[in-house]
Amino acid sequence: MSEHLNAAMVEQYADGELRADEVAAAEEHLRACAACASAVVAQLQLKRAVREAAWTLPPDALRRRITRRRVSPLAVAAVFLAFSLGLGIASLLRTSSGRELADLHATILASAHPVDVISTDRHTVKPWFEGRLPFSFAIPELGATPFRLAGGRVVYVREQPVAYLLVTKGAHKISLFAGRDVAAPRVDGFESVSWRAHGLHFVAIGDVSRDDLTALRNAFVTAR
Ligand SMILES: [Zn+2]
Repeated sequence: MSEHLNAAMVEQYADGELRADEVAAAEEHLRACAACASAVVAQLQLKRAVREAAWTLPPDALRRRITRRRVSPLAVAAVFLAFSLGLGIASLLRTSSGRELADLHATILASAHPVDVISTDRHTVKPWFEGRLPFSFAIPELGATPFRLAGGRVVYVREQPVAYLLVTKGAHKISLFAGRDVAAPRVDGFESVSWRAHGLHFVAIGDVSRDDLTALRNAFVTAR
């Protein structure tokens, strides 16, 4: 049997940061070694716990709160099954990081307090972000559009602060994320539009049509 994965390799593997040849070697070992597979599962569960808590807590508080969890035999079995089917975890991980914003969208909308600053007025919401984000961005006047601002908050994506705006169109809710490095989600179930403007990445996700999200994008791109 090949060598065990050390702690750094387990972490890099779970983060999808190993080179392709390293991934192949790691997965060959993981197929045969329950100890390393369970270390990988623990790391994945930690990542998931971090992700679920990440939108409410700044990174420092998060690090203090998260502790390593016990690994269930079922989770280990699931990993072995994934390997034996030839899936590998790397492909699952790429999907899960792409899901992050869509997960945040769903989680925030399900929350009792989706936003920290509740206002339809961009002149209230924009200043609220000052001092809370290492960048600034313009919020357009939406009065002439079918959209209304509902409020905002700061969320954390891969430990980076990201602006979150809740925008409504009638009864529909749209999440708008703005940050320095925000990846476009690749998921079914929600429509999403992403763009770059003013040195930032923007992603809009919601249960509205693509044309609606494009109209919202146009409002933000031309905002001063
Ligand atoms: Zn091993």
